[in-house]
Amino acid sequence: MLLFRQAIKLGVTYWDTADSYGWGKNEKAIGKYFTKFPKDREKVFLVTKAGTKKPQELTEKLNRSLERMNTSYVDLFFIHYVSNAKKELTNDVKAWAEKAKAAGKIRLFGFSAHKNMETSMLKAAELGWIDGIMMSYNYRLMVKPEMKKAVAACVKAGIGLTAMKTQAAFSANFYATIGSKTNEALKMTENFINKGYSEEQAKLKVVWENPHIASICSAMPNMAILQANVAAALNKKKLSINDKIRLEQFARQTAPGYCTGCADICESAVDFNIPISDMMRCSMYHHGYGDREKALTLFNGLSSETRANVLHADYSIAEQRCPQKIQIGKVLQMVCDDLT
Ligand code: SF4
Repeated sequence: MLLFRQAIKLGVTYWDTADSYGWGKNEKAIGKYFTKFPKDREKVFLVTKAGTKKPQELTEKLNRSLERMNTSYVDLFFIHYVSNAKKELTNDVKAWAEKAKAAGKIRLFGFSAHKNMETSMLKAAELGWIDGIMMSYNYRLMVKPEMKKAVAACVKAGIGLTAMKTQAAFSANFYATIGSKTNEALKMTENFINKGYSEEQAKLKVVWENPHIASICSAMPNMAILQANVAAALNKKKLSINDKIRLEQFARQTAPGYCTGCADICESAVDFNIPISDMMRCSMYHHGYGDREKALTLFNGLSSETRANVLHADYSIAEQRCPQKIQIGKVLQMVCDDLT
């Protein structure tokens, strides 16, 4: 409650949740807040998501989210985790979104994407009925030509873009595998500290400095992170060209620790339909965020057959194709060891 109150006071008014976060607890907490401070509802740009494409289920989930959050509408409603917009964003979904808008339950409609983001963004730009997309986007991904092209297409189509995963946390315990932090990484941190902001704040700033990105969705689980993020947003000093070069160099040097979600490249090279990109995300939540519960939720959502097959699959071709040169087999083995 205090964190929400302080967020409003500090001007943090883009609030993102999902029906699945904390099995509904997250939405209920927002609902409690709006019950206590009803006038704040209008100050907040409220976003929630539902993990289905079936119209009947979308209606049920949206109604439940509205009830939990004690509000009659959300500003932006996302289909959670679209990985193939061409297949998933059907005419039925379009009709549902139009109906929900006409009923005043949602103002805008779109989707979130963690894997194959660029392909889905390009498709969305063609469709003409997607208002917003939240996708993984950070100093590593923003320099990829495919991502630049996808962002440009969305901007041209008038789609609002929200960046998530801006810290680009490692998919595996990267520094543990190479011994310790590299000198370059330490130098980069020192360089930012000398300029008055932390490495984490610099990673936010580099995204905010892109005028094509409408907002950043960043987890702020405590007052210290909320204040640090707000300070970064209010700090008008721009990153220098050298700062950006340092971030790019760091991204290159540590590429094998970060999965860019280009699942079409690796997953087609492995038998048994192993969801490599999702398993990389399990590892990121566990090691990068220190959030074992979130990692377990995602991991336990995989079928027992898939989990059994992970250890028998041959990843050699996938590893050759991976643009990040990730040791896929090793990371997936670690995920199974850690979360089974
Ligand atoms: S493991 Fe490599 S190829 Fe597969 S999604 Fe991640 S970065 Fe792309």
